[in-house]
Amino acid sequence: MPEPRDLISKARQPEDELVEETLRPKYLPDYIGQERIKENLSVSIEAARQRNEALDHILLSGPPGLGKTTLAHVIANEIGVGIRVTSGPAIERAGDLVAILTNLQDRDVLFIDEIHRLNHQAEEALYPAMEDFSFDWIAGKGPQARTYRIKLPRFTLIAATTRSGLLTSPLRDRFGIAFRLEYYNQEELYQVVKRSARILDIPIDRGGAEEIARRARGTPRIANRLLRRVRDFAQVRKDGEITEAVAKEALSLLDVDEMGLDSLDRQLLSAVVLKYGGGPVGLATLAACLSEDPGTIEDVYEPYLLQIGFLERTPRGRSATPLGVEYVLKGEAGRQEMRAQQGRLFDRP
Ligand code: ADP
Repeated sequence: MPEPRDLISKARQPEDELVEETLRPKYLPDYIGQERIKENLSVSIEAARQRNEALDHILLSGPPGLGKTTLAHVIANEIGVGIRVTSGPAIERAGDLVAILTNLQDRDVLFIDEIHRLNHQAEEALYPAMEDFSFDWIAGKGPQARTYRIKLPRFTLIAATTRSGLLTSPLRDRFGIAFRLEYYNQEELYQVVKRSARILDIPIDRGGAEEIARRARGTPRIANRLLRRVRDFAQVRKDGEITEAVAKEALSLLDVDEMGLDSLDRQLLSAVVLKYGGGPVGLATLAACLSEDPGTIEDVYEPYLLQIGFLERTPRGRSATPLGVEYVLKGEAGRQEMRAQQGRLFDRP
């Protein structure tokens, strides 16, 4: 059984890759939630289609697992063009980028994940490609050097980032469209779970799907991952159907708490409450205390804790809300009770 840390971690895991392919919605109507984005996109897509033009370049930002990659595929399917997928760290030199760009067909989508990790040289090469669909190739060195302008196919760049704050403004300014994906509400996550269960042929009732949705940390990737783990439990220990009781039992066995928080979420809140008296505590101090990068805390962990009202950003730092404090103290009381019980066990003659 995987460690709880893996279960609710936000990063994509090898096991996800296989299933995510099957579960990925293909067209806008199947893409659950993010209504405002879908509405805007359908207008832009229709306009580009009518004018027979490539769609404007699109920047998608937001925490991991919310559907940025999925949306890029949906957009390409809706326009009816091909998609080429790469990522910031995979493009080592400007030459790598040119090789990809020259192989695109007219109006194709190029998806670059983790664009904030693109190196400087490749980023500079991207500017004219995005603006004029061209690339300046410098041949030779010194006074003999000549610049050739290579014409590229018209393409749409869709870039995704979990750390939009790290993008340089020249790069950010070159996207005609920018969307920030939001966490999903319970009803939307319920829809995600039901849809995935239908595709994977997993028997589940309303209560079971709602319980998984509640603990999915607002994130479809986590909802799908929990669904698969609960299915294993239902199959091996029960009669196969996921009911509310089965889901509850499976999820507590997997150490996913009722809020679906993962261990770093919990450590972060506990630090604010127990170490810094509820805050305010500065981001840098908090990051040092958790041995995490401040940017990752700010862009990947905090947004969900802010969303569920456990944490507040104040001008003097981060503070826990009364709800956040209650959550930590309840967890702490639970652990003390467990220690006391263990103590009593050992005390016995
Ligand atoms: P990101 O690129 O933001 O990290 P992904 O696009 O890889 O996230 O999404 C992770 C998984 O979550 C997908 O494989 C898909 O099954 C599911 N998913 C994401 N967004 C949606 C959505 N809006 N509707 C249904 N399923 C979704």
